[in-house]
Amino acid sequence: MEAGIDLANLDTTALPGTDFYQYACGGWMKNHPLTDEYARLGTFDLLGENNREQVRGLIEELAKTTQAEGSVAQKIGEMYNMAMDSVKLNKDGVEPIKGELDKIAGLKDKKEVYAMIGNLQQVGIDPYFNLYIGADDMNSSMNITHLSQGGLGMGERDYYLENDKKTAAIREAYKVHVAKMFRLAGFDEATAQKAVKAVMKIETELAKKSRTQVALRDPHANYNKKALADWEKEYSSFDWATYLASARLGKVGDLNVGQPEAFKEVETIIGTFPLEENIAYLQWNLINSAASYLSDAFAEQNFDFYGKTMSGKKEMQPRWKRAVSTVNGTLGEAVGQMYVKKYFPAAAKERMVALVKNLQKSLGERINNLAWMSDTTKHKALDKLAAFHVKIGYPDKWKDYSNMELKKDNYWSNIERASTWAYNRMIDKIGKPVDKDEWLMTPQTVNAYYNPTTNEICFPAGILQYPFFDMNADDAFNYGAIGVVIGHEMTHGFDDQGRQYDKEGNLKDWWTDTDAKNFEKRAAVMANFFDSIQVAPGVHANGRFTLGENIADHGGLQISFQAYKTATANAPLKVEDGFTPDQRFFLAYANVWAGNIRDAEILRRTKMDPHALGKWRVDGALPQIDAWYKAFGITEKDPMFLPVEKRVSIW
Ligand SMILES: [Zn+2]
Repeated sequence: MEAGIDLANLDTTALPGTDFYQYACGGWMKNHPLTDEYARLGTFDLLGENNREQVRGLIEELAKTTQAEGSVAQKIGEMYNMAMDSVKLNKDGVEPIKGELDKIAGLKDKKEVYAMIGNLQQVGIDPYFNLYIGADDMNSSMNITHLSQGGLGMGERDYYLENDKKTAAIREAYKVHVAKMFRLAGFDEATAQKAVKAVMKIETELAKKSRTQVALRDPHANYNKKALADWEKEYSSFDWATYLASARLGKVGDLNVGQPEAFKEVETIIGTFPLEENIAYLQWNLINSAASYLSDAFAEQNFDFYGKTMSGKKEMQPRWKRAVSTVNGTLGEAVGQMYVKKYFPAAAKERMVALVKNLQKSLGERINNLAWMSDTTKHKALDKLAAFHVKIGYPDKWKDYSNMELKKDNYWSNIERASTWAYNRMIDKIGKPVDKDEWLMTPQTVNAYYNPTTNEICFPAGILQYPFFDMNADDAFNYGAIGVVIGHEMTHGFDDQGRQYDKEGNLKDWWTDTDAKNFEKRAAVMANFFDSIQVAPGVHANGRFTLGENIADHGGLQISFQAYKTATANAPLKVEDGFTPDQRFFLAYANVWAGNIRDAEILRRTKMDPHALGKWRVDGALPQIDAWYKAFGITEKDPMFLPVEKRVSIW
């Protein structure tokens, strides 16, 4: 592959100042039409395909040969083979969940409903609400128990509450889907219809008390830590003793209930709705969670709603891809260990370490030069930046899967066992210090993250490849692509959410009042700009929901452009293929977001994804960047032009 920008990605019939996305990515979009299995296909996804092929090779090597009984290699092979065995899956049908469905059907009272919640959570199913053990936001070195809103089959409250035509149609399709799934699970039509009513009733009530995506961005509002005794008083009819015992949370200590009003609703639903409605809802949670691990009839119906209706996909992924995803999801670090050994060169890690250092320095310089921030706040911001915990490639300490127990009975039961393994690992953290070396993504993942409570940035090996990172390309390309990604993750430590955490990862205000007001004023410019963008006829982007990601893209571009200028100051780069180095920086950035997307997926992502759509991560972000105007000679005559005083200016 030729190093750097691929000219075939461009559409030079478009004008950079009219639609830069089309100009930089139009060729790519034409050459990579959506395939039936994709709702959105971008460069990210193509890189994901490449990683998946590599991981498949590693897994199949283990799966086709005999491994030592009980070894991790054997677990990987067995999980994969079970996922691939369509004959057995289809023969088993509903059998793998039959016993549990019957158990739920036999629940005699409210107390048994509470016990069932804990039982299901241990096998990876979360009805009514979510449970996780993680850092205490105000005492970030220690783990506590968090309960948060959840329990929605469609995943997002808007689908239950909004009445526009498209959303209403999805809601109607969901009802049909739930009925079909109950029929597949062996219930008669009348019972299935009753179940639909119960599921819709309970989920709609939960949706009404669920916070919006925008409200969920306020970490203070999500922080409600109290001693168990206080929660027992507040939710007095919630059967804490039964639930905690069944979830094996005996030593729970203090509890953070993220969204108390949603939790209050759970208490009401279990306490006052008829038992048979709660039973139907619990059965639905089991069927829905298991569907893609059962027979083809279940998996196809599941795809029909979640893939086709919600996302606009036309065809299911082939079985081997789903099987690889399962192994990645259950034994991810074991596969990751093999993956980095074979595919992640030490030289790539070294170059990344150097890039991160340069980006860190550049952000420090920019913070120092901010006209709108006082020295007091700057000092603390610089402290936080210097305290970043940086993770590159793969973890130093791997997860140990030796005590995960798999059996030969059926695929779904092994999925449950893998979930129980993860659950045991999770509840073991209660009351213990946070392990800051744990990774929240596997090494083979094509992504990166910032975690506020550990103040860490993480770049898995999977993303450190073309078109993000190219060992053979020059700095203009690499700073425009992976450099902006690094700067993006760093900026998350200083976005509307991340800025509320201090250098230790505690939710503690370190800003002067004036500086905080200045930040909010500047962030509002970004939110309003994205609010004004129409992503589809009549559908606007959600500026407040995507604010953190848009600030991160903006900061990433500013930081990385400056770092690239510093890195090349003494050895200026050449013009290549008629493009100046500065132009190539922005083309490399845009090409990372090249992609095609279906209409249904635009709607779904606008409701559920905190990132702007690919097109707007380019056409919404670049008009805010002065250097982009200069690089392409964009003037007030061009449609994308924004007057300087209207451009976002934060980091
Ligand atoms: Zn981000």
